[in-house]
Amino acid sequence: MGVIEELGLGVIGYKVGDRVLVGAITPCGQCRACLYGHLSQCGHGDGDEALGGWRFGNTIDGAQAEYLLVPPAQANLAKIPDELTDEQVVLLSDIASTGISGAEAARVRIGDTVVVFAQGPIGLCATAGAKLMGASLIIGVDGDETRLAMARRMGADVVLDYRALDVVAEVRRLTGGGADVAIEALGTQQTFESALRSLRPAGTLSSLGVYSGKLQTPYDAFFRRTRRSPQRHHARSRWERADATTAEPGSIRTFRSNSAHHPPLLAGGYSPCLPALRRTFGWCPKDRDQTVAHGTDPAAARENSLA
Ligand SMILES: [Zn+2]
Repeated sequence: MGVIEELGLGVIGYKVGDRVLVGAITPCGQCRACLYGHLSQCGHGDGDEALGGWRFGNTIDGAQAEYLLVPPAQANLAKIPDELTDEQVVLLSDIASTGISGAEAARVRIGDTVVVFAQGPIGLCATAGAKLMGASLIIGVDGDETRLAMARRMGADVVLDYRALDVVAEVRRLTGGGADVAIEALGTQQTFESALRSLRPAGTLSSLGVYSGKLQTPYDAFFRRTRRSPQRHHARSRWERADATTAEPGSIRTFRSNSAHHPPLLAGGYSPCLPALRRTFGWCPKDRDQTVAHGTDPAAARENSLA
């Protein structure tokens, strides 16, 4: 987020002084990956490249500097409407767009049941994304009461504390056999497996988490041993069907945030909530190398505070 200081040749529709938003992912907008909508996998003008759209903080240094050169600016600038404050849009450049893209990548449809594992800032925005896309039942999962309360504000109909119950069993019960979509927003083996096991057959797992180590995909999670409920007129077939193995060829989609999402999304009622996901820290130059944590965990925030 910033103000245009200078404009490159050929950039149209913007002028010096415009307040603009730039996504954390800055694709070229012209390559095969971009034209297919896979902006994170931008091929820099040609073909595609794994995470090629991730440049700030990766192949381009200085994203925290006072001045920043935006690559393919025509594809990566979004004017910020005057009526929106900096606080209302700052999360859109990365956290909100990443979370919402989790619902988009899963292709949530009107009426779908969606479970979102982990309700940190990105998971909360995935919950909001599922709501915006028309899900009829959204289940938020976390182990922190503050985050679960925020999940309700962001659109979750039901919240589950994984410390208190078997989340996978409860999701299956609430959804009548498994969710249409599971969004994983933490990046651990446990949440990935739980998300996979919470799906209905042929459901979709959208994975936002960044897995820091090896991730194993449990083959058995694609198969479920089912025991159908007894039916009055088919008492014998009940036993014939018992322990039948049902294939669950759910699809898995992985995604990272793309370009800045549209500020008008804030008009959907989330503008009061987004600033609540952000935390403001004082700035002390001697602690410059410390990391600022964005989160809703007060203890973690105190630990990482620069004040
Ligand atoms: Zn591209």
